Amino acid sequence: MPAISFEFFPPKTDEQRTQLDRAAQALKAYAPDYVSVTFGAGGSTLSYTGDTVARLHRTHGLEVAPHLSCMGGTRAEIAELLDGYRAAGYRRIVALRGDLPSGMASPGDFRYAAELVAFIRERTGDHFHIEVAAYPETHPQAEDALRDLQHFKAKVDAGANGAITQYFFNPDAYFRFVDDVRRLGVGVPIVPGIMPITNFSQLKRFSDACGAEIPRWIAKRMQAHGDDAEAIRALGAEVVAQLCRRLLEGGAPGLHFYTLNRARATRAVLAQLH
Ligand code: FAD
Repeated sequence: MPAISFEFFPPKTDEQRTQLDRAAQALKAYAPDYVSVTFGAGGSTLSYTGDTVARLHRTHGLEVAPHLSCMGGTRAEIAELLDGYRAAGYRRIVALRGDLPSGMASPGDFRYAAELVAFIRERTGDHFHIEVAAYPETHPQAEDALRDLQHFKAKVDAGANGAITQYFFNPDAYFRFVDDVRRLGVGVPIVPGIMPITNFSQLKRFSDACGAEIPRWIAKRMQAHGDDAEAIRALGAEVVAQLCRRLLEGGAPGLHFYTLNRARATRAVLAQLH
């Protein structure tokens, strides 16, 4: 059975909290290895990740992995978060650079995720299993694709135990990425990040921002369904389940689902895989 993990974001309203609880309850049935919680960049959102992992850990009994992004943060702030997570008994961290929020001038004490990984190792030794981000279709700000691979390798050399990819819909991009970094000497597991398709226009907006390509054949078929949400959901589940099957058959060590705090679309994909 491949390792399954689910990603959530911190809810900010009571309604969103209820939605997260419902999703966590439903997805627990798939016995995930862990669930991760994203880290919103900047100021007041800092504490939400900690609250949310605590809730998922205590209320739902799930193994948790808080995301930690270093952009805009100081060494002292990051150290405090790390110490708190260690004291709470968490064993996993997803370490990221993050993006500088508009209007925030200072990038903080760290420039790249590799520096954050090194800092986590320096401060907490081997306590945490560290995952980092990987970009099979190249990070949108990379100088070029080959240097992006080298920068990915630097995160593993700094002490990361594994990676989760940005989502993608073309399995060849993943296989090529894995082959390329293996040739560079990177041996850690690289788990594909899977984005279930529910709302196509939202997905298109996300994808434009993060540099994920939606193949023309998928876009065309989605567009043909217009506002028919049911048809889009059904097609989305079929396309994403087929992608997952090809990834697992090709040797992917697991699947990490971007749930967007809803269980339905992720379950629809998993139902087709079982
Ligand atoms: P890095 O690995 O530091 O890379 C960033 C860019 O810098 C790349 O283009 C890289 O090629 C380049 N680079 C790296 N090192 C060097 C160097 N030495 N010299 C020159 N260039 C260099 N964002 C959030 O804010 N919160 C989250 O919770 C979150 N979770 C995520 C989870 C996953 C699985 C993924 C894939 C992404 C997530 N992100 C999150 C988004 C991520 O923070 C952004 O994509 C961000 O722009 C890059 O983060 P990184 O950790 O990949 O950065």
